[in-house]
Formats: sequence, C-alpha cells, structure tokens
Amino acid sequence: MNTLKKQGNNILDTQRREEKAPETECIWSQDDAYDGDGNWNSSCGETFMFIDDTPKGNGMKFCCYCGSRLIEKLYEPEPEDEE
Ligand SMILES: [Zn+2]
Repeated sequence: MNTLKKQGNNILDTQRREEKAPETECIWSQDDAYDGDGNWNSSCGETFMFIDDTPKGNGMKFCCYCGSRLIEKLYEPEPEDEE
C-alpha cells in the first residue's frame, strides 16, 4: 500500500515542475502621475513604486503579486494633434 502511494506522489511532483513556468503575462504600466516615473500599475490591479529605473531595471522578471511574466509598458505622452 505504501509503495503505491509513493509512486503516485512522484508523478504529482513531476507534473508540478512542468507547470511551474507561468504562461500568463502581467502588464506593468508606468504611471504619469509623478512626472513620468515612480508608480507602476499592474494589470492584476496592484500599484508598485520604484524609486529609480524600471521593473526590469530593478531585476524583476515576474509580477510579485500574481506571479505572471512581467511585461513593461513605459509611459508615452499623448502625441500632439496635428490638425
Ligand atoms: Zn500581476
């Protein structure tokens, strides 16, 4: 009985390892509220503040809230109307 149970657990461990890499993406958008730097809004609904640099510049590869792959979206000022 115990032997069977052990084998079952090993199979589960293997499956967990394969599921480890997140396939979902979390987009962190730079907020313009602090002159173009500081606050970043994640697509999972959280806000994070960096004193300097971007999330990736601070060594972040994954969202620290939802665990998804972190995608940076730098703040871009609205293009001027050319009318
Ligand atoms: Zn997230």
